[in-house]
Amino acid sequence: MKVTLIAVISIIVGFTTGFAQTSKNTAAPTALSAIKETDLKKDLYEMASDHFAGREAGTLDELKVSMWWADKLRAAGLRPVGDDGTFFQFFSIKRNRIATNSTVTIGTESLLIWKDVLVAITTPAKVTAPIVFVGNGSKSELDRVDVKGKVVAIQATPEGLNLNVSLWERRYMGYVLNKYRTELINRGAAAIIFITDAAGEQSWNQVLPAMKRGLYDIEGGPNAVAASVLPVFWLHNSNVNMVKNEGAVFNATINVEQFDYPSVNIIGKVDGTDKQLSKEYVLFSGHQDHDGVRLAYGTDSIYNGADDNAAVSVALLAIARAFKASPGKRSALFVWHGAEERGLLGSKWYAMHPTVEKNSIVAVLNGDMIGRNNPDSAALLGVQPPHRNSSELVTMALQSNNEGPKFKLDTLWDKTTHVEGWYFRSDHLPYARAGYPAIFFTTLLHPDYHTPMDEAKRIDYAKLKRMTDWMYRTGWKVANASKRPALEANFKLER
Ligand SMILES: [Zn+2]
Repeated sequence: MKVTLIAVISIIVGFTTGFAQTSKNTAAPTALSAIKETDLKKDLYEMASDHFAGREAGTLDELKVSMWWADKLRAAGLRPVGDDGTFFQFFSIKRNRIATNSTVTIGTESLLIWKDVLVAITTPAKVTAPIVFVGNGSKSELDRVDVKGKVVAIQATPEGLNLNVSLWERRYMGYVLNKYRTELINRGAAAIIFITDAAGEQSWNQVLPAMKRGLYDIEGGPNAVAASVLPVFWLHNSNVNMVKNEGAVFNATINVEQFDYPSVNIIGKVDGTDKQLSKEYVLFSGHQDHDGVRLAYGTDSIYNGADDNAAVSVALLAIARAFKASPGKRSALFVWHGAEERGLLGSKWYAMHPTVEKNSIVAVLNGDMIGRNNPDSAALLGVQPPHRNSSELVTMALQSNNEGPKFKLDTLWDKTTHVEGWYFRSDHLPYARAGYPAIFFTTLLHPDYHTPMDEAKRIDYAKLKRMTDWMYRTGWKVANASKRPALEANFKLER
């Protein structure tokens, strides 16, 4: 009881004194009116148009939209903070993919990769071994035969899996593998062939775009080089007799090709007004890339990424215009990250290689998907332990919500128990890991997520404007506070 009482008193005292000290600078920011719904809408329709073909990282489409952004930033009066006096910071994506000279045969039958057989793991492999069929792979089935050195064929089932998640069809094959992988490695299997069930058949086309593209990372990351691990294949149920053939031999030569190609972060700033504090930065973060051209839904194959993440991209530009109209004491830094969809690569790169002094970045305000769902609701992540790495930054964001848009804030998606693991899926994460105070603004998932239906016409622009206001108000507080937000002493994420 005592501890609680003291804590309550100190919060009240802290709040009132903090407010008295800084009320002059943290009153509603003067340039709120510079953020206009009409600008957000116009910019978003342009950025999420088919002209940019889904802005896939590492393609000319990402470079094209980056050029377009640089022109926008120049027009808004931002100063470039990329390499060599430009708005751009280039970095290399390390990519691995299955080479087209790979081969798979069962007995005398040659299988066509991607059509007859999926190569589910991007790993170099040479397998020649007899197949053993173990039904649904139950423990008693596995105990019945010695699988050591054999290719184990298993009939997939959704038993024991929670498929009540977004885009379950794209995750199903990974979930099935997780049920068996450790057990089969321990038993010394040479490879696994999963036979599709109905869910597997439904997943086949959904996993193809990512499987064919392969693995991505930046230098030094775990996916930068394809590791040698247990090879995994999927076969259609219509071919199940091939693996039931007593003594059938499986032959696979899987080659992985590795290459680099470019992605780019776009970085601009508005200088602060205070002689000392202007050397410090509030970093506003979003990502410019999306998923390019993939599996068609109906007649549409362009993944425009209107909510993900043109919404935040245009919000950042609107906030930049507001800071330009009325700068804060600290400088405002704006980073449109590249290659977020390929594994948060641009933010991983920038957190390690910032183009300003690392210690001068006082907070990272990241947004991802801020224009959909109920008009009155939103979420802030990085609020609840163990995701909270700066209580002071969180307090500024919550106060800003109360003073401005007054969203009802979701509290479930920031929990470690939430099935989506949302905290781990956007660009604040590498910053939090690297010791920058960081929070994540979002209006969460919707059925159009990562499909061609995430389009400009489905955005709630009034809501997008209020989310932009919220991020701006929070950044304004940070920019003008007498002290930079402190880091939590014992911040440690659950994974
Ligand atoms: Zn996103």
